[in-house]
Amino acid sequence: MSYHCPICQRVLYNRRLSQCGFCGADIPENLRFTPEVIATLDRETAELEEQRKQREREAEEARRAEGGDTGVDFSAFT
Ligand SMILES: [Zn+2]
Repeated sequence: MSYHCPICQRVLYNRRLSQCGFCGADIPENLRFTPEVIATLDRETAELEEQRKQREREAEEARRAEGGDTGVDFSAFT
């Protein structure tokens, strides 16, 4: 289901906004996310971002662990 501006009938691509991004009309509250929904979305976004960073850290560590034993020739120092 998509939501449309009551004035210009364009799709509301961002339901956090209190005004239409195209014509600037006030968006009725029943077409907008409530503050509670926005807070939930923000929290979920933050959690997903945190998980993504965690995966990147793990991948980075795995790369380092793999490369640690190769490419170093200790005989060169003796
Ligand atoms: Zn509009």
